[in-house]
Amino acid sequence: MEHIRKAVEKLASPRLRAAVSIQTTLLSSLTNMMREEGMMQLLPVMVSPITDPLNHSVLEGSIRYGSTELQLTKSMILHKQLAMASGLDGIFIVSPNVRLELPERGSTGRHLIEFSQLDFEMRGRKMEDVMRFSERLLVQALRDVRARHGKELELFGRELHIPSTPFRAYDSRGLEKEFGPDWERILSASSKGPVWVTNHEREFYDAEEPDMPGTYRNYDIIYPEGFGEGLSGAEREWEYSRILYRMDKNGMDKAPYGAYLEAARMGRLVPSAGAGFGIERMLRYMCGAQHIEEVSPFAKVPGKEIIF
Ligand code: AMP
Ligand code: MG
Repeated sequence: MEHIRKAVEKLASPRLRAAVSIQTTLLSSLTNMMREEGMMQLLPVMVSPITDPLNHSVLEGSIRYGSTELQLTKSMILHKQLAMASGLDGIFIVSPNVRLELPERGSTGRHLIEFSQLDFEMRGRKMEDVMRFSERLLVQALRDVRARHGKELELFGRELHIPSTPFRAYDSRGLEKEFGPDWERILSASSKGPVWVTNHEREFYDAEEPDMPGTYRNYDIIYPEGFGEGLSGAEREWEYSRILYRMDKNGMDKAPYGAYLEAARMGRLVPSAGAGFGIERMLRYMCGAQHIEEVSPFAKVPGKEIIF
């Protein structure tokens, strides 16, 4: 009963009220900037035969609809690419994602099994365009939260610093050499402001540098003060032959991706770049909360009993 009492009390706490009010500001700040940029809002896809294969293992989450097996959306990356066929210049989605993260991730302070991304994609743009746009989004959201939520931030004992742009950028290979596999934690803990880390070897849809195989046109924002990764994005692979090549390179079974591959074969995928901010993670960083569950009313922490 104790854990239920705690979960109910969290719902009634001034800190949670403060967090939700900050979240409302950061979401309107971010989405307003997207609208001002001429981007169009799509509604989320929650189930589909295909979803993001991800770069790390999670427990499988699918449901049956008659004889069809539907995946719960891990991210809308493939649907973002398909939606660009409409001729829209830019799209964004407040997208609920279900990733059944392994129980040991419960202690990172930044993993949930259900979270939301502010996910966006821009036609014909390059990684540098999306990096500059993402910095503007984050800085404006920080400014708006700091201007409107002095009282709420005080409740968290949080003093928010507005970072200058462009953020400093590092290559993941250099970091790995210098700090070993734990580079993200070390970099985040020692940084005073958000930084970029580029060039990660990961999912097939993140574009490889055309003249430098093994170098990738992708980028993550790492929050300072130990809050860790806050955004991932990339320029995309969009040509049929390149997608097949990258899927093979990642040892993927192509069978489940038949319809997506057919769209690529038909020439319906277009060059684009995009990214996604984890909303709960951005809110945790802004509040300076120890664990992401403190700022999310119905947080589902990997490995922890789910109450609501
Ligand atoms: P990804 O493209 O997989 O890096 O996901 C995009 C963003 O979503 C990440 O940069 C995080 O901010 C957020 N995110 C990813 N996984 C989780 C998770 N399990 N819990 C909370 N936020 C997450
Ligand atoms: Mg990531």
